[in-house]
Amino acid sequence: EWVDFVVFFNRIIDRFELTKEQTVDFERKLPDKPILMEIDPDKLTQVIDNVISNALKYSPEGGKVTFRIKEQEDQIIVSITDQGVGIPKGNVNKIFGRFYRVDKARSRKLGGTGLGLAIAKEMVEAHDGHIWARSIEGKGTTIFFSLPYEKYEDEGDDWN
Ligand code: ATP
Ligand code: MG
Repeated sequence: EWVDFVVFFNRIIDRFELTKEQTVDFERKLPDKPILMEIDPDKLTQVIDNVISNALKYSPEGGKVTFRIKEQEDQIIVSITDQGVGIPKGNVNKIFGRFYRVDKARSRKLGGTGLGLAIAKEMVEAHDGHIWARSIEGKGTTIFFSLPYEKYEDEGDDWN
């Protein structure tokens, strides 16, 4: 299905902004022009839902979550950054494994199964993209994912 990825992403963020119970601010650093892409919206909604709910789950009161889309030559890079507890060095890549959870006690309290990011990885890879994380313990986490993107420039000027 063809969508404007910026509109698609904004809608999901809006839904969280309306329903979140935490006092966490959202900041959007998104392009102001459309990014037309063919995606499976249901699958990517699952990906983004999980990443945002993780960001909220691990954010402190008064924290900020930042949403970005960077447009490159042949891909876009979407990122979601929180100011939460972070993930210990050495464990950052494990979070995409099935049932992996950093802190068993903390995770039990916060609920969930530890499958969210493993499913997200499958969904992103089904779009020929990649998903990865950068995190500093005590400072916060950014989850990135890339999606292939063919940029069609407006070539109208060539005829003048
Ligand atoms: P589920 O998504 O199935 O409800 P979950 O959120 O625990 O459960 P994942 O989304 O796969 O599972 O995340 C795996 C683990 O990675 C989490 O349990 C948590 O320890 C760690 N993690 C994920 N996102 C963050 C984040 N933004 N900040 C800190 N830790 C995180
Ligand atoms: Mg999760």
